Amino acid sequence: MNRECRELEVMRTTAAAGDLSGEEAARLEAHLVACVACREALARDREMIDLVRLPPVGATESLLLADLPARTLSALKRRERRRGLFRRYLAGAAVAAAMVLALLTPAVLRNHPSRIIPAPPAATEVAWQEPDLDTLWSESAVLDSSTGSSSTGSTISDAVLDAYDEGTGI
Ligand SMILES: [Zn+2]
Repeated sequence: MNRECRELEVMRTTAAAGDLSGEEAARLEAHLVACVACREALARDREMIDLVRLPPVGATESLLLADLPARTLSALKRRERRRGLFRRYLAGAAVAAAMVLALLTPAVLRNHPSRIIPAPPAATEVAWQEPDLDTLWSESAVLDSSTGSSSTGSTISDAVLDAYDEGTGI
């Protein structure tokens, strides 16, 4: 194999695949006339390519392949439809779950405290009662009156507050 043989190697392989034409084919042809090694190499390449070449498409395969694009498309559409249905099902299930939750939550919240509230206290125990603000106010007035009259008490506390505001302390 000389330098030209190596230069023509790609052309030879292309020719073996049947894809060489024009000026390149003519050049290779001219070389093959004089080069036995390249003729043998081309024969080997053709043999190898024939071995790996796929057989021609038969009648059954032609029929199968004819509507392959349409079948593929319809299969894709079916899958998309199923996926859409599944998404809609999921959305519906989520809405249903939210509705059930909305319906059950108040009942649960209503029922829950009644379950944990203990039995009513015995007669000896005093249950805590909401303090009446008016009662508290009148009781505080009683405390004020114990230190003096109510008017004097308020005057004293005003003086104390004034002193505190001036920063002189109590
Ligand atoms: Zn050659």
